[in-house]
Amino acid sequence: MNILIFVLLAVTVIALLAYKHGLNENRDIMLADYPYVKVVGDSADGGSSVVVLNKTDSSVVLDYELREGYAYPYASVKIYLGDGKSRGWDLSKYDSIFVWIKPRGEGSVRLYLRGFDSTFSRAGDESSWKYNEIEFFPLEESYPAIFVPQEFRLAGWWVAQNNINVHQARVDMSNVPLIEIQTGTSAPFGYGTLEIKGLRFKGKTISWDKLVTSLVVMWFVTFLIILVIRFFDYSRERAANKKKREELEKNLMALEIEKSEYEKSSKEDPLTGCLNRAGFSSVLLLEQENLSKNDSPVSFVILDIDHFKQINDAFGHNVGDEVLVNLTKLIQSKIRNTDALVRWGGEEFVILCGDTPIQNAQFLAEKLRMAIESTPLIKQQQVTCSFGIAEMIAGEDPKRLFERADKALYASKEGGRNRVTSATFKRSTH
Ligand code: GH3
Ligand code: MG
Ligand code: MG
Repeated sequence: MNILIFVLLAVTVIALLAYKHGLNENRDIMLADYPYVKVVGDSADGGSSVVVLNKTDSSVVLDYELREGYAYPYASVKIYLGDGKSRGWDLSKYDSIFVWIKPRGEGSVRLYLRGFDSTFSRAGDESSWKYNEIEFFPLEESYPAIFVPQEFRLAGWWVAQNNINVHQARVDMSNVPLIEIQTGTSAPFGYGTLEIKGLRFKGKTISWDKLVTSLVVMWFVTFLIILVIRFFDYSRERAANKKKREELEKNLMALEIEKSEYEKSSKEDPLTGCLNRAGFSSVLLLEQENLSKNDSPVSFVILDIDHFKQINDAFGHNVGDEVLVNLTKLIQSKIRNTDALVRWGGEEFVILCGDTPIQNAQFLAEKLRMAIESTPLIKQQQVTCSFGIAEMIAGEDPKRLFERADKALYASKEGGRNRVTSATFKRSTH
């Protein structure tokens, strides 16, 4: 992109410099070896002036004698361009005209650049060709005489004679089949001489207007191209970004799922599928909050399989595992959805019962104890559990709560197992 603009800038600078210092186009007519030159006097207009044209090595020399006869006697050199009839030269693109004329006498000289205008000019009738005119005194000190096209004007007498309308009554050098160099208005009667070397039309190969237009078009097109490229780049970038975002979102979703699965599994005991200690912590937090905010009682039931070691020893570790799984199922079927069953470790479980005062927990524990006792968890083998119960005190350290429940459990074990013991607790009454 930057390269494009840099190239454009370089091209512009080069073009402007080239225009300033070069790109010149000269068109010369040197009469010593230009074939289409004619000399005429005023005889065709009823005059009697005499004209003779001589050639030298580097010029033509018009010798004349202006005599009375015609109202405006003259001597003239005609130089035909192009086909000399209707298709001449386009001189409108030149910005200066050099004229090498040396006078050998007095008087002014007229230079006519005769324009053929297809709307009214006729090929066979030179009088219908425009008289783009300038009249000047050739001076030694300004040789050659140099003119710019703007200094020419259309001869008024010709406009009048030909009823030229306002739209056409202006200088037009776009098609010049004839140049005339003629004695001027002030030329006196008698002998005179004009030595004419030639003319030079000097211009640029490209006009300033064309150059500027081309450069503007070039800049415009380049910016258009840049704009289009930018637009496509932007669209492509957007599409790529969208794809990337979608991929990221997909990955994120997968990660979220993985995370929640991981979180779930990290809180779960792999053997029994009930909560592990990590899972217990988050449930405990909720219940603690419930207690402190809503004064909703929370009870803690801890149970331990009696003589589990003996089961392992008698039937093997796998059967022991089966007992753990079946016990979990049995307990899950007896407790509420809102109660959380936690495998505390080994063959020790905890049930956290929200919205449950200790009396209800005691009732639940008794119910469980009886259900376990009467349900053969494996091969007709009777299994019993001992229970310890404690109710959570607001603001109590969970460790303390556990200790109280554990103490009650220990009491159950001590007391002969397969029984329920509650830690002493008095609910504060507000
Ligand atoms: P008590 O009535 O005093 O609780 O006696 P107990 O045998 O149940 O207690 P003890 O602590 O002596 O033994 C617990 C046994 O539980 C020891 C261990 O091998 C067994 N155990 C702990 N975790 C698992 C387990 O994941 N699977 C199996 N099969 N056994 C386990
Ligand atoms: Mg134990
Ligand atoms: Mg045990």
